[in-house]
Amino acid sequence: MARKMLIDGELSKPNEEEAHYDFDLFVIGAGSGGVRAARFSANMGAKVAICELPFHPISSEVIGGVGGTCVIRGCVPKKILVYGASFGSEIQDAKNYGWEVNDKVDFNWKKLLQKKTDEIVRLNGIYKRLLSNAGVKLFEGEGKLVGPNEVEVTQLDGTKLSYSAKHILIATGGRAQRPGIPGEELGITSDEALSLEELPKRAVVLGGGYIAVEFASIWRGMGASVDLFFRRELPLRGFDDEMRAVAARNLEARGIDLHPRTNLTELIKTEDGIKVITDHGEELIADVVLFATGRVPNSKRLNLEAVGVELDPKGAVKVDEYSRTNIPSIWAVGDVTNRVNLTPVALMEGTCFAKTVFGGEPSKPDYRDIPCAVFCIPPLSVVGLSEEQAVEQANGDLLVFTSSFNPMKNTVSGRQEKSVMKLVVDAETDKVLGASMCGPDSPEIMQGIAIALKCGATKAQFDSTVGIHPSAAEEFVTMRSVTRRVSASGKPKTTL
Ligand SMILES: Cc1cc2nc3c(=O)[nH]c(=O)nc-3n(C[C@H](O)[C@H](O)[C@H](O)COP(=O)(O)OP(=O)(O)OC[C@H]3O[C@@H](n4cnc5c(N)ncnc54)[C@H](O)[C@@H]3O)c2cc1C
Repeated sequence: MARKMLIDGELSKPNEEEAHYDFDLFVIGAGSGGVRAARFSANMGAKVAICELPFHPISSEVIGGVGGTCVIRGCVPKKILVYGASFGSEIQDAKNYGWEVNDKVDFNWKKLLQKKTDEIVRLNGIYKRLLSNAGVKLFEGEGKLVGPNEVEVTQLDGTKLSYSAKHILIATGGRAQRPGIPGEELGITSDEALSLEELPKRAVVLGGGYIAVEFASIWRGMGASVDLFFRRELPLRGFDDEMRAVAARNLEARGIDLHPRTNLTELIKTEDGIKVITDHGEELIADVVLFATGRVPNSKRLNLEAVGVELDPKGAVKVDEYSRTNIPSIWAVGDVTNRVNLTPVALMEGTCFAKTVFGGEPSKPDYRDIPCAVFCIPPLSVVGLSEEQAVEQANGDLLVFTSSFNPMKNTVSGRQEKSVMKLVVDAETDKVLGASMCGPDSPEIMQGIAIALKCGATKAQFDSTVGIHPSAAEEFVTMRSVTRRVSASGKPKTTL
């Protein structure tokens, strides 16, 4: 296939590269972004190599696996555990639907863990096949840069391989960080949490982000007692405040003990478990302490400074809007650039990279209206602006529509848990700026709403859309009355 190389919008002469470089593209890191960029570039005719650390569910600086965080230690195994945990409450809900459920329901953690591992091993194989089917050469080992066009791969046995490439793509993702408190070695990160030998009876989670609340929900759903500690008043900073409050209320109602404005200061090993000490002087004993205290870009061991690649103060690789670093032959996508750290975003960046460099179509990733979900139980999902962001960015007034309702399923099951929806609308243009929902199936519903927002839908268009009945989703097209009008300065003008 003819090879097209686009540099700053100009096609270079194909024969030049073949003579000089082993590969057109060398990708370091075979996670979401790296695999996408490698496959698409190869499909566009480039000669591509990729390197990835050897496979294991728990990562380290020398352990990883094709598929990356999402497949092996993130989205996929987590969602499997969320499904597993959700059956507990589903079984309770089934009783009023006529299912005779014996009081004692057993849960076999080891069985679920084995099924989860089988699935990630299967996906790891699929990702390897995707690469080989696209003609991408895979090297197993740790990659680092030696120069602007040279990569060195250290294989498991210590052998070093060196290759030149016209372009190098850094796609090494991120890694969980620990909070730096005495006894932190007694705690675990999300990597280990997805592979625990035993289901904890008493779990402590430190962190208020999505990973923290998801694991709190998983363990609680499986029957553990869970204490969730976080620094703010509410968990899930960055999401709409009203929806954060709904999510917090649901977590509490499902039996999770929330400890807002509280940090952990020390962990001590005792005969009974891990003694957890808080900055309020509280003490409790746990079987497992999870640190979900943020992630850092995986950039330390890549020799980037020596090659002159600029990093930001957090260690993220600095890139322009095409994902190119300050060194023209070196590019970076995904979590290592710390833009929006989500799998679909890494995929988008990988796709745009391939189109820009090998497809003859310079493409910038578009970060507007990225939907996302928190898979706590029940889940929260959002797209567009939160009310707080809209107030900050708006020129004029906003109309806020909310709906809090008892999902139909709960009317028979008796579960006391409301679903809550929200739309934030520009009062002048009628454009829907943001949507959120906390309740069952919200991620499935929000994906469709995200298309509407991407198309610039107005509230009138939402209202003229026919609902699907009976469903929770139809509520999004029947929110007729304004809950409140918010002035651009953020002060409620009227409560309609
Ligand atoms: C617990 C958890 C849950 C998550 N849940 C979600 C979710 O529900 N939805 C969502 O969208 N996102 C989720 N994410 C985030 C998502 O996993 C990441 O945003 C995504 O994987 C980023 O892709 P990436 O390609 O940048 O990096 P990664 O997928 O992390 O891939 C980087 C790869 O580079 C390899 N590597 C690192 N250094 C080297 C080296 N020197 N040489 C060779 N290889 C190297 C690593 O082993 C890794 O395989 C979750 C993350 C975690 C931790």
